[in-house]
Amino acid sequence: MRKVTDVDLLAALKRTGALQEGHFKLSSGLHSSRYVQCAKLLEDPSLAKAVGRALADRLRSFEPESVLSPALGGVVIGYATAAALEVPFRFCERRDSVMLLRRGFELEPSERVVVVEDVVTTGGSAREAGQVAGTAGAVVAAYGAVIDRSSGSAAFEAPFVSLLEIEAYAFEPVDCPRCAAGEALAAPGSRFTN
Ligand SMILES: [Zn+2]
Repeated sequence: MRKVTDVDLLAALKRTGALQEGHFKLSSGLHSSRYVQCAKLLEDPSLAKAVGRALADRLRSFEPESVLSPALGGVVIGYATAAALEVPFRFCERRDSVMLLRRGFELEPSERVVVVEDVVTTGGSAREAGQVAGTAGAVVAAYGAVIDRSSGSAAFEAPFVSLLEIEAYAFEPVDCPRCAAGEALAAPGSRFTN
């Protein structure tokens, strides 16, 4: 079986265009020299499977009985991780901005759940998923993500593991070094070379 190491993962992120270097405007309005779109990595099912297996290896010691992910970002990796752990997979989703368990999904009281997300920046969606599990009476054993962009700032009430930490490098436009250098904004999704 192919093992996804941090080095492999970084190479795969670059190869698939999931991680691009350049001058990007994030949805927050901040500028960044890095653009991350994990869905581009996971569009290859065999890669999604391998990454899910790697994340499962990091989460197994927490003895999860199921995986819960916030939709949409966490769904593909959550499923792949649950498949590797051989436990049920469920997702929660927003309705009128409130994160809910729908579609008949139910958690057992005291069920040990791991919350799996693709990219954690503030950790907001993952925390909300954890609250959904807590409200259902389940126990959040751990949080897991493919990429941690929080620079250590995401706080969770349970252990948090990730496969790769990537510095956010986000700046207000007035503080952006690439703006200062007169570099035009790049469109995310455009291919880069290095
Ligand atoms: Zn800029």
